[in-house]
Amino acid sequence: MPALQEEHVVRLLRPLLRTRTVLEPAQSPPETREFAATRFGGFPTVEEGETWPLCDGCAENLTFVAQVDYSRDGLHDRLPISFFTFFYCWRCYPWGRERERGGWLVRSYTALRRPKVLVHGTAPDFEERHAVPRLEKSLPDGVGMHLHCPELWALVPGEGGSREARANWDVVDRAALHLTQQRPRQPHMRNTGVAIGGYPHWANGGDETPVCTECRRPMELLLQIRPSELTDATWGDVGTLYLFMCRTHTRRTGLRIQCT
Ligand SMILES: [Zn+2]
Ligand SMILES: [Zn+2]
Repeated sequence: MPALQEEHVVRLLRPLLRTRTVLEPAQSPPETREFAATRFGGFPTVEEGETWPLCDGCAENLTFVAQVDYSRDGLHDRLPISFFTFFYCWRCYPWGRERERGGWLVRSYTALRRPKVLVHGTAPDFEERHAVPRLEKSLPDGVGMHLHCPELWALVPGEGGSREARANWDVVDRAALHLTQQRPRQPHMRNTGVAIGGYPHWANGGDETPVCTECRRPMELLLQIRPSELTDATWGDVGTLYLFMCRTHTRRTGLRIQCT
């Protein structure tokens, strides 16, 4: 296998640059309570008249996981929505690969007209936590090259392989680091953390980006939840949950989970 030149890799990767917003735990709760404020746990904000969502698998109540004030906290190149909430069913425990619906729900809004907090039961399922947004640049992680840069994937097949292949992966990591101006800590761990937008960090396995059922194009990452102080919601031992949305057909969403 020929040795990759960093300049060549930079040329391949530069057009793929996206931005993403990392959500980090806030040290103190926000001073003013706004309906749409980003939060994990607590109770969700809904449009007046909306009721608590039921699972389309088992017909029981869904569990509220998170909501994002996307227009305020989404510092990246955003999808055309302003706010969304995410609910999940731990009875049905969907992983999203077999079918695109069942056991979870994303409610997205272009504007909230008459928002209210929907209290349900005596206590929230998860303790309320708040987040601080931080803008970053993002490039596909190693396995993401399969979808986003087939030319590079062909030059560096898979994660394993020969010493030459591993050396080529190092060149890719260096080029990505250079383009995203990230700190050199764990260069192959691109896109980790809790984040909205950008590319996912595929925790274990290949790229599983879902395609939109209307336009057949790959969806974009809406929210990635890695294990974090931000939420007590967990999927498996060390599961990462990914929500996707089509930029054109924002009603089309996808869910994936990978566990390490
Ligand atoms: Zn269910
Ligand atoms: Zn679409």
